[in-house]
Amino acid sequence: TNHNLYSLFEARFPADKSQTAFEGPDIATYSFQEITDGAARIAGLLTAAGAVPGDRVAVQVGKTVEAVILYLACLKAGLVYLPLNTAYKSAEIEYFITDSEPAVVVCDPASFEEISAVATKAGVRKVFTLDTDGKGSLIEESRGLPTNIETVARAGDDLAAILYTSGTTGRSKGAMLTHDNLASNARTLHKYWHFEEGDVLLHALPIFHVHGLFVALHCAFLSGAKVIYLKKFDPAEVLANLPRATVFMGVPTFYVRLLSDPGFTKETCRNMRLFTAGSAPLLEETFNAFRERTGHVILERYGMTEAGMITSNPYDGERKAGTVGFPLDNEVRITGEDGAVLKDGEIGILEIKGPNVFKGYWRMPEKTAAEFRADGYFITGDMCQKGEDGYYRIVGRSKDLIISGGYNVYPKEIESFIDEMPGVEESAVVGRPHPDFGEAVVAFVVPDGTAEVSAADVTGYIKEKLANFKVPKQVYIVDALPRNTMGKVQKNQLRDRAVADG
Ligand code: ATP
Ligand code: MG
Repeated sequence: TNHNLYSLFEARFPADKSQTAFEGPDIATYSFQEITDGAARIAGLLTAAGAVPGDRVAVQVGKTVEAVILYLACLKAGLVYLPLNTAYKSAEIEYFITDSEPAVVVCDPASFEEISAVATKAGVRKVFTLDTDGKGSLIEESRGLPTNIETVARAGDDLAAILYTSGTTGRSKGAMLTHDNLASNARTLHKYWHFEEGDVLLHALPIFHVHGLFVALHCAFLSGAKVIYLKKFDPAEVLANLPRATVFMGVPTFYVRLLSDPGFTKETCRNMRLFTAGSAPLLEETFNAFRERTGHVILERYGMTEAGMITSNPYDGERKAGTVGFPLDNEVRITGEDGAVLKDGEIGILEIKGPNVFKGYWRMPEKTAAEFRADGYFITGDMCQKGEDGYYRIVGRSKDLIISGGYNVYPKEIESFIDEMPGVEESAVVGRPHPDFGEAVVAFVVPDGTAEVSAADVTGYIKEKLANFKVPKQVYIVDALPRNTMGKVQKNQLRDRAVADG
């Protein structure tokens, strides 16, 4: 049978294709008919350009509906969609294009010259353009092409997409995702989060990342739901459009910014049934402030490029701050350094196995082999703890673990204490090489302006509460933590700064 994800979406689109699929303040309105016709034309164009099933299509373009149609076109034609972060500059793009050897590249007209030069060297057949208004040679050249072409049949383990990881812990890796990987996670989330006909998704996330592209759009597609599509996250636009929406998905920084707007009220959320958060930890403070302001409890979930969503707080049951809920349709276990499974309550590395787990890293067989156990479990690299209540908590990444004087120091534990201090907004703790202890704890603290906080205050506060080896050897008071577009704190940058100073 055909496992093409596009066929699944098409089967779920409304019977009445004149219904609205996408609309928004800065875009035209698109019906499901226009989406499927557009996908067929572009699928035909890519095929005519010489791309054959299994070939990669690398895409670095702004957020438009045409970019979504391009994604669907790739699925339909059996091509492997490979989106790239719009923030990447030429040196990075060169790496991704050389690494992925795409048959076709689609880029913004502004980078056409530069990318064409790289593409020629890498053996790319054709470079199309698509600008931030959804115009360009991709659309021009597909105009008038037939809309009645067949969807290419795919096996479940054929590749649908390669998504590069965010590069938070090192160089980005290309995660190979199959049609079945994406379909299984889409079905799981659609059901778990109670998506249904009539839902309206307010979409403000970027679409080069698993969160905005797969988690958000797939849920909408599986219920044939309308998407209110914002070109970027802008709190005022979100407030203006929320009253017409039922679901919103965000990274934690979105919620912090919404809460800082006094216009964000219960009334704005009157039609909403679900707010979800992920891609980075949601502060308990944000979770609580959100509930007080709106009466809604944010549903935090946890996942990664390599596996889609892994755990989620419940839809009907209690959603607990500081937790990521329960495992979805994958098996999970928590292991120690030697790989032995730990007892409930102990902190270890989360390992997972299931239909959502990727096929491996693109052209990195050794890296792939190193991240999988012999029995097929994938080692996520996230430190995790299962509480007595059965809820899972992510306590940081194994790469961020600090070993000081032979003791394991979990940055999250120290960060949680610092965050509780009056006058503190948030904090980040990293390790810096130390001649005696191996590593020393260094803290970066962001004040919230309600009280004076000095480095000595922080050190004194921690000294009273925690063992000596956890007390920061240095505390920086900073205006903000460095974050990427997904709201992830860039601890590498903090470590570099601490090392440079130390
Ligand atoms: P790289 O793998 O290149 O270092 P990355 O891991 O940040 O980058 P992504 O796949 O975008 O790339 O992010 C997945 C990671 O995000 C998870 O492994 C986890 O560390 C973090 N994450 C996602 N959701 C949550 C959450 N709810 N709470 C805490 N961390 C989360
Ligand atoms: Mg990762």
